[in-house]
Amino acid sequence: MEKRKCQVCLEEEEEPDELSIICQNKHFICSECADNFIISKLHSLEVDLPFKCCVCNIPIEESQIEKHLDDDQKHTYEIYSKFVTLDSKKYRIHSCPSSCGYKEILNWSELECPFFICQKEDCKKGSCIICQEFYQIPDEEVLSQEQHAELVLGSDGISKHLTCLSKKDVKDEWERCIDAQNSRPCPRCGLRGIKDDSCAHITCPKCNTKWCYVCGLDENDCDKEGTQDDPNKLSIYRHNDNWSTNSKRCPMYLRCIIEIDSRYSESDEQCMEFLHKLLFYKEIRQFINKYSEEVLYDIFKTFPKISVDKIIIDEAMTTDLTIIKR
Ligand SMILES: [Zn+2]
Ligand SMILES: [Zn+2]
Ligand SMILES: [Zn+2]
Ligand SMILES: [Zn+2]
Ligand SMILES: [Zn+2]
Ligand SMILES: [Zn+2]
Repeated sequence: MEKRKCQVCLEEEEEPDELSIICQNKHFICSECADNFIISKLHSLEVDLPFKCCVCNIPIEESQIEKHLDDDQKHTYEIYSKFVTLDSKKYRIHSCPSSCGYKEILNWSELECPFFICQKEDCKKGSCIICQEFYQIPDEEVLSQEQHAELVLGSDGISKHLTCLSKKDVKDEWERCIDAQNSRPCPRCGLRGIKDDSCAHITCPKCNTKWCYVCGLDENDCDKEGTQDDPNKLSIYRHNDNWSTNSKRCPMYLRCIIEIDSRYSESDEQCMEFLHKLLFYKEIRQFINKYSEEVLYDIFKTFPKISVDKIIIDEAMTTDLTIIKR
């Protein structure tokens, strides 16, 4: 029998055993490496499904993957496999807040009920889908009529979560604002990304779009140096030419901005923090202009976990939010 080389550890093996993974083109991952391969893929299911062979990039048969999954992993894998076939603007994966691992796909855009009852045998907890608070599931056989009414309609009763539901869309919008504190969305698919410690160009791991972290635009939409028929103009690097005088251009490294804008610093990390602060403030301002401060503080009252200090809100409304002052 011919020897096979594992594509991960590069060891040769006489005979693949049951737990090794083999793709349609006979590329092979040994049983020792297979577990790590699967675990690393399970960490980024949203990006990595279907799992592909690291050599030929062809999806690996499901039976090859499933033999490596325990029941909880299989549940997660199945939910995500189904989820990637659905419209991600409409549907969402919701996890039981008890971190028991149980998940369900919800039609988020048409959610009619905020109540979630975990179906995992040893959990079975009831929680609000929107605020994630647990509640006691009313059991009519055990409770008296008064107890039942109190549990459902009392001031801290289950029915208060109907208010959560009514504020769902505004809460979602506010949460998107909060995300701007530490990431930016891919201009094509919306997957949130964060710049690594090198330059300001970033490639989306989901849709492969190259984009500029400073202005947030797809490389095809970035303003670039050069004439229309100049092949170099296609390169995202031309977006970095003359950035210090041209407001449509961006610097390749954030630490260069301090040359013309003293609000930034010489460390990339601090520059990034400052950029995120400005972007977050812009989101706050847009939110308040669209709704009102009152609506925002009402969201804070219903969902204290996502509230932000008033000082920050006030600063966001008054600070100069120009990304780079030229
Ligand atoms: Zn190996
Ligand atoms: Zn392959
Ligand atoms: Zn649960
Ligand atoms: Zn709630
Ligand atoms: Zn993308
Ligand atoms: Zn840019």
